[in-house]
Amino acid sequence: MKKTSLLLFLLLFIGKSAYLQSSKPDRPKLVVGIVVDQMRWDYLYRYFDRYQEGGFKRLMQEGFNCQKAYINYLPSYTAPGHAGIYTGSVPALHGIVGNDWIDNRSGKSWYCTEDTTVTSIGGSQAGKMSPRNMLATTFSDELRLATNFRARAFGISIKDRGAILPAGHSANAAFWYDGSNGAFISSSYYLQQLPAWLQQFNKRNVGDSLINLNWHTLYPIQTYVQSTADSNRYEGLDKGASAPVFPHLTSAAVSSRDKGAIRSTPYGNTLVRMMAEACIKAEGLGTGEVTDFLAISFSSSDYIGHKYGPNAIEVEDSYLRLDQDLAYLFSFLDKQVGAGNYTVFLSADHGGAHNARFLQDHKIPAKALGMNAFTNDLNQHLLQETGVDSIVHMISNYQVYFNAPAIEELNREEVKAATKRWLMAQDGVTRVFDMEEPDNNHPSALYNQAINGYFANRCGALQIILNPGWYDAYLPTGTTHGSWNPYDTHIPLIWYGWGINTGESYKRVNMTDIAATLSALLHIQEPNACIGEVIEEVLKK
Ligand code: ZN
Ligand code: ZN
Repeated sequence: MKKTSLLLFLLLFIGKSAYLQSSKPDRPKLVVGIVVDQMRWDYLYRYFDRYQEGGFKRLMQEGFNCQKAYINYLPSYTAPGHAGIYTGSVPALHGIVGNDWIDNRSGKSWYCTEDTTVTSIGGSQAGKMSPRNMLATTFSDELRLATNFRARAFGISIKDRGAILPAGHSANAAFWYDGSNGAFISSSYYLQQLPAWLQQFNKRNVGDSLINLNWHTLYPIQTYVQSTADSNRYEGLDKGASAPVFPHLTSAAVSSRDKGAIRSTPYGNTLVRMMAEACIKAEGLGTGEVTDFLAISFSSSDYIGHKYGPNAIEVEDSYLRLDQDLAYLFSFLDKQVGAGNYTVFLSADHGGAHNARFLQDHKIPAKALGMNAFTNDLNQHLLQETGVDSIVHMISNYQVYFNAPAIEELNREEVKAATKRWLMAQDGVTRVFDMEEPDNNHPSALYNQAINGYFANRCGALQIILNPGWYDAYLPTGTTHGSWNPYDTHIPLIWYGWGINTGESYKRVNMTDIAATLSALLHIQEPNACIGEVIEEVLKK
């Protein structure tokens, strides 16, 4: 009897101590979220044989590749993309409905991260920014809450919105690039002065040293067989250049003190990578008691994509260079945090269309439309019908915003019906959804995407859907994004490192599943507007 109780006591004791030992959640030392701005999913494979070891290939071969990850809302722009990844939610709930929008109650235009209550720290007006317009928490907010704010969270990007939205509301800081002074800056929302390490980093003028090298192709230009020959009519021009060709003499920007020029060169990505490494090192991220978080967004891929379009040598070369930057970053993390101690995911805020002219030249239906012309013509038409001028405030984010005072006296339903009839008669318009009145004659997946993007006070009443290949653009060169179509909404999603399986899946998943999966990996609460599902096969059990 005594023996049995002793055994029972021992078992209980051992059991209890095992429980105590595992009572501290097992977590990675650092989570690094990487967003490549405007990275189409197919870039993983389009240039696969040109990637070296250690960058994209390291993620693809040793990590878990979700091959069918999609954006599940409209419009597919940068701000909703970054908010969507980190909140696990959609514009209808987190409120970031575009990069810009109109507040329907006041008629005021808003930029996604503008905040007039804060001041710029380290730069010009470009620092009057914060995440306040985002209504939901992010993964990092939940990580901070789960650890009583012991976890540290930072966001870094060339673009303010690429740093601020991912870093979350409770971030230690977000840092972004100020094109007026060439420095990484922040706002008084986070801190009162830049940390000493960042002041030193800014003093080094890394950006100038990079663009001084000029932009030559990494390899002999004739080896870029995946891209259109260098001089063509699909690409935008450098300032003062007569053809869009290599080498791009970026060093001219150093003498003219044009600090913004680095954005549309691959050196912008290199600068962000170096800045991220400086932050990890100086802040000691991944070396503390609890998991830290760093969001990196590589914006130059978006500027380059907009300027040259997906079939340009410039885009191919910029991905080969980004691949090298990723390899540097991962080997830095191996040394600084330890291989196997950190978790990385890489995704994109949206993709991008092929240039419409390029597609037309290859007999594929496409067109670049200027929605501005739509606004003028539509207002003329509505003036004739109603006798009231300027009924349409603006067509933006593929949505029609009405001018509230102008239609106050009119029958709103009649104005919407007249607008819809006119739009449906235009070439390339395939659907117009009345977002205030659920429609029925539409493919439901597409309508659901529109509904997910509709936050009443910040969106236009009518949602325009164009034909595949058609897009709203001001220039015939380069490209853009924003539509529901796969070239804009099929994004890469690869996981790597601590807690992550090796493998791949063709199961369709959504952008909103990223934050749900990250939260599950760390055993923390998901963000407070998260509608995503855990992608179970990614996680080691
Ligand atoms: Zn973007
Ligand atoms: Zn863009």
